[in-house]
Parts: sequence; C-alpha cells; structure tokens
Amino acid sequence: MVRLTFLLLSLAAAPLTVALAQAPNAPRALPAWTPAQTQEILARTQTIRLAPDISHLSAGERTAVQKLIEVGRIFQQVYEDQRHHQALAAKARLRTGSPEATLYRLFQGPIATTLDNRRLPFLAVAEPPPGKNVYPLDLTREEYDAYIAAHPQRQAELTHLRSVIRRADRTSLTRDLDVLRRYPVLAMLHPGLKQRLQALSAKPNRRELYGLPYSVAYADQMIRAFGLLNEAADAVEREDGEFARYLRNRARDLLSDDYESGDAAWITGRFKNLNAQIGAYETYDDELTGTRAFYSLNVLARRPQETEALVKGLRGLQDVENALPYDRRKRVREDIPVGVYDVVADFGQSRGGNTATILPNEAYLARRYGRTILLRANIMRSPEIFSAGSSAWAAVVAPEFAPHLTADSQFNRTLWHEIGHYLGVDRTRDGRDLDVALAADANLLEEMKADLVSLFSGRKLRESGYYTADQLRSLYASGIYRTLQNNRPRRDQPYQTMQLMQFNWFLDKGVLRFDPRTGRLSINYDRYPDAVEGLLKEVLAIQDAGDPARSDAFIKRWTSWDENVHGRIAKAMRDTQRYRYRLFTYAAMGE
Ligand SMILES: [Zn+2]
Repeated sequence: MVRLTFLLLSLAAAPLTVALAQAPNAPRALPAWTPAQTQEILARTQTIRLAPDISHLSAGERTAVQKLIEVGRIFQQVYEDQRHHQALAAKARLRTGSPEATLYRLFQGPIATTLDNRRLPFLAVAEPPPGKNVYPLDLTREEYDAYIAAHPQRQAELTHLRSVIRRADRTSLTRDLDVLRRYPVLAMLHPGLKQRLQALSAKPNRRELYGLPYSVAYADQMIRAFGLLNEAADAVEREDGEFARYLRNRARDLLSDDYESGDAAWITGRFKNLNAQIGAYETYDDELTGTRAFYSLNVLARRPQETEALVKGLRGLQDVENALPYDRRKRVREDIPVGVYDVVADFGQSRGGNTATILPNEAYLARRYGRTILLRANIMRSPEIFSAGSSAWAAVVAPEFAPHLTADSQFNRTLWHEIGHYLGVDRTRDGRDLDVALAADANLLEEMKADLVSLFSGRKLRESGYYTADQLRSLYASGIYRTLQNNRPRRDQPYQTMQLMQFNWFLDKGVLRFDPRTGRLSINYDRYPDAVEGLLKEVLAIQDAGDPARSDAFIKRWTSWDENVHGRIAKAMRDTQRYRYRLFTYAAMGE
C-alpha cells in the first residue's frame, strides 16, 4: 500500500454563502470561509498537469480512453457524494474558476485539510459524520454494532464492502424499491433483495437498518457506466481481446457488487497498452467502521520498455526470497503481474499523487489470483514532485550526499517495496493471519518489512547486474530519505512510526551520523547492508511469532525522539517546503 499525498493551485477570492437543506439530526452547518482563509491554502498549492505521450495508442485504444474517462467522471460524482451528503449540491452553486471551485477540486469536496492538519468545511455545509454518506447521518458506532449483534444472520448484508446502510423508513424503502422496478437487472443480480425490502416496507421503522448494494444506491450511474465500459470493450476488442474481456467482466461487477470475475481478469490478463483500475476498492474514507469501499477509476498507459526490463529483473525473485534472514522457506511466483504506467486520468479515491497501487485487498482474491502492481511512472518521475523532495534532502545531509538521491532511486525503492509485500513471512509460525495476531501493529510491521526487503534486495540485484554501483548507492540514499520526518509521528501513524524506527536503527548502527555543529546527516554506506539485514531479521521474527507484546516493546524501543536531533532535522525539512498541497490536472480530459 502507498500513502496518499495531497493535491494543488491559486487565485483571489469572493465569499460564498450557500444555504443547504439539513438532514434531521445532522451536525449544524458552519459558515463558509473568508477569502483570506481560502487564499492561505491556495498559496501553498502546486498544480501539476499530467500530459503523458500517448501517441503509441491506436485509434481504438484512444476511443476506449475517452469512454473510460466518461466512466471516471461518473465515479467522481459518486465519490464526492459518498464523502459528503451536501457535496454535489454545494458544488452546483460554485462559480467555475472561482477560488472555492479550485479548493473543492483540490479536496474533492467541501471539507479542507488546513495547514495545521485539521479538517474543516470551507463552504457552508455540515461537518461530515465519521461514516460520511454511506451510513445514515445520525448512525453511531454503538447503534450499528448493537444492531448487527442483534441480527447475526444478517452480518454479510450489513457489513458488505460495497453497500450503504439505510434506515428502514418509508422514504428510503419506496425509493429503493422503485429502483428495482426500473432496473429489473439489479433485482435479478441481487436475489432476495426485493423481498427483503418489501418485507421491511410492510412496517417501516427508523430503528431497523438494511444494507443496500452500491449498484442499487447509485443505480443510474452504474447502469450508465455498464454501457460505457462495454463500448470501451467494443473499441479494443480486436486488438486487445484480454483487456476487452476485463472491461466486460468489470461492467457486470458494477451491477452485481461482486468483483471476483473482473479482478481475476484484471490480475491474470495480459494487456497491451492500456490498463485501468475501475470500481470501489479502498476503505480509508470510512471512518465509522473502515469497511466501506469508495469509488475510484484511473486510466493508465503502459510504458512497454520499462515494463519489459522490470519483468526481466523479477526472474531472480526466488533468490531474493531465499536470502531473507528467516528460516521458513517458501516458493514465490516470479511472474508477478506488474507494469510501469503513465497516469492518463484519475478519478475519485485514487486521484492524487499515489506512486503505486497493489490490488485487490481481499485476502481470498489475493490467494486465488495474486495481486496486480501498477507503478505510476509519471508521478514517481515527475520533476516537479521530485524537486520538492530533493531540496528537503539537500537541506539535511552533508553536501557530498546531496546528489545521491535520484528520481530513479525513488522509483526502484517503491517498486521493490511493493514486491516486498509478496516476500517473507505471510502468516505466523502457528498459522495465524498477521492482522489477527498483531492487531493494530500488523500494518506497521508489514510496511516496515516491505521497506526493508526493498533495501535488502539491493545487494542481490547488484550481483545479478540489475543495478549499477551508483544505482545501489542511490537506492540506499532513497532508503534514508524515506525515514526522514518533518514532524514527530503520532503512534497511530503506522507509516511515519516505522520510518522513525528505521531512522533510529540506522543511527544506532552507525549508518547515520548526526553532526550537531552543522545539523546535518552523514551516511556510512559500508554499514548499510548489515544494518538492514539486522532490522529485517527482527521484523520477520516478530511476524513469525505473532506476539503483540513483543511487537509493542520493539516499537517502543525504537521510536525515541530527540528535539536536538530529530527536531532540528524536521525543522530544516519544513523550512524548505514551499507547497503543502498538490492539485493534479489531466491533458486527456482537456485540462
Ligand atoms: Zn506497502
């Protein structure tokens, strides 16, 4: 998994007030921001226009791209609606090109993340509840859990990844039954749903809840998307049959809310020039229970030479696995579906500065078909994005180390991080799933493992000729860059916490040395491989044992923060940071 980064742009402002209808019991609307508040964000926002060369695409592929973009625009609206019940109404009142419209685009809705990391409405809308707009606005976690506990036989219906929760009031039931009448295909694809809703509507009661599949909740949009995906498939049918089949399967998935057929076609298919992530996958936006997926779509154009070189590099994957510092051997597949792509357009949950994607998340699908890795080269190799990182780097290392960090090394480190998720311990020695055994810290340890496998594999890949000596040194520099923090991490931030742990380990093992006189870091590359191996050994051993007490002690031991060291580095990094937000625009969408 990869952290999301924020988006960017700027202009002057006029105040905007909108009166929006309030749902019963919904939090009260706050006043809209002043022009100065809006401007403060826009001044720290950088716009990045993605305009990859897609001249190698055939006419049919270009038609498919436009159809996929149309689906993306539909998903964008659904995504904004999922995140805030007043988003689309507020958006409709915005003047095109106004500063507020830019802010809305930046945050994909009416809620901004401020410079001091708070989330506030900037238009006159309510503060969103944790469950956003995929649960009743007044539903609490307690009421939801109690309802599920009282109806254990309906667990699957009430917790489905791709369903909204509704109160069984007359308005909701009438509307949802009407959808099933208008679209018999949806009633057909969700056996029993109509009968369930009819039974509830005999005696409507707000205290009763029901789960409604996304395809029914967003029926008009998904029916249109179904048609457009089939048109996209028609356009590439003759030249890229496997991609066409994936699109047709996924079109049906959007109506059934069961993605298995599309995911299988996506992961195992061998496509020509295009790829696309289509549908609701990630659950980060659901802060009530973390179980609901939000819509995303991206259109990706393959970089054929880079992808080929990468696939060759992966042939030594079993050797890397065999060299890992733990004693349980496993066979790994060397034909991992992985590709290097340019982002042509991006919508909804996946929009932004993501550097790589590995999907799907569901364990049963990953076990059966694997997972696909999509590397986003025009993000990772963007000169504008890279230059922000390299100036922060130059501000904290001694001058001779500054040129070692390269865009290429960031790319390699990210790639092998994703591959790192495939290697090493995947269950405890006694056969438990890691997230069950290690609970909240499972994610932290898994991400640290992936980081360390990426660095550990460097030596092997140098031996096999995959890296040059300079590339290996740059990979190591990138590994250090990754551990630098511009703020003290909170314990509930798994990525930042495990990065701080690596930094402290490197200091302890003499890989890093902090000069209190200059306030800068030096790197001893000779000590690097052993230090990485030592830490990776610890992480693999903790995963293997699945012991949360040991894991907690390990995390405590390595997360110290010294204002005279960490604090000075953090401040030096913050001082170089001109932009806090990035706004992406897409040439393929006429932007
Ligand atoms: Zn990861």
